[in-house]
Amino acid sequence: DDKVLQVNQLKKHFDMGKGKVLKAVDGVTFYVKKGETFGLVGESGCGKSTIGRTILGLYDKTEGDVIYDGNDIHALSEKDRFTFYRKMQMIFQDPYASLNPRSTVKEVISEPMEVHGLYKNKKEQLDRVYQLLEEVGLNRDHANRYPHEFSGGQRQRIGIARALALNPDFIIADEPISALDVSVQAQVVNLLKELQTEKGLTFLFIAHDLSMVKQISDRIGVMYLGNMVELTTSEQLYDNPLHPYTKALLSAIPIPDPDIEESRERIILEGELPSPIDPPSGCVFRTRCPMAMEVCSELRPAWQEVEKDHHVACHLYDSTLTKEQTKKIDPQ
Ligand code: SF4
Ligand code: MG
Repeated sequence: DDKVLQVNQLKKHFDMGKGKVLKAVDGVTFYVKKGETFGLVGESGCGKSTIGRTILGLYDKTEGDVIYDGNDIHALSEKDRFTFYRKMQMIFQDPYASLNPRSTVKEVISEPMEVHGLYKNKKEQLDRVYQLLEEVGLNRDHANRYPHEFSGGQRQRIGIARALALNPDFIIADEPISALDVSVQAQVVNLLKELQTEKGLTFLFIAHDLSMVKQISDRIGVMYLGNMVELTTSEQLYDNPLHPYTKALLSAIPIPDPDIEESRERIILEGELPSPIDPPSGCVFRTRCPMAMEVCSELRPAWQEVEKDHHVACHLYDSTLTKEQTKKIDPQ
């Protein structure tokens, strides 16, 4: 089986007190194949980071399963979970916030090796730090400097070197390029791709827009308000997007060709993202959906496979509905 990670009906709810529950992740199912990049996309607050953290076991789950390499992550003992973290690492959005400013680059990168007692010999450990710096496009002269002496792109390279320190198989990259200048974004994406090929890494790549994800991902899952609304291969998502939310996200990506750009229809979503504490009934997207129908406020759309490897949760693709149910309504 090449499905290295399986997330089944995962729910992560936070108790907010006074009987209120924040449904950050509300029943999400997907798998990631060994060696691929799976893109997880959606606006901030849709639950994508929470999924990343729950997969890693940094959050307990509320319901559902996370199976990695045959192991139920949340059922692991503390000791086994510690060993497991060598295989799965995380890269964060803001490399500066995730690096200790008082530690030198050398200390930042060697810390995970020390925590896991990887090297008995200091010289061996230092050689490994130098090697990692070179693998991410930096060099050994950087080892004794501090994170603040580096640019955003270089800091993200340091964050990547640290994530690679334990030789992981799987990396969760939570918006690794969102804080970087556009010109630097492509460099970091290219570095990640190179490292993936060299080391056979598997990536879960989290992002809030589809522009870069398109280039890096093999398959993509689109999330909205704690729910997965569409999931398919990169090509199918761009060639044949089905969910109205995916269509809106795609229409927001600028196209370099001015002729196409001008004639193209932008789908502007009206209204605010509802609160995950009090999500809309039925389809969570209905308050902003230009296609909303009567049935959308009554029934939660099923997660169905409408063509091979293409799943969507939307009543537009449900052929069992009555004429009355499919009457169009104004979104509100
Ligand atoms: Fe829009 Fe209804 Fe589909 Fe939801 S189920 S995306 S409201 S058409
Ligand atoms: Mg986030």
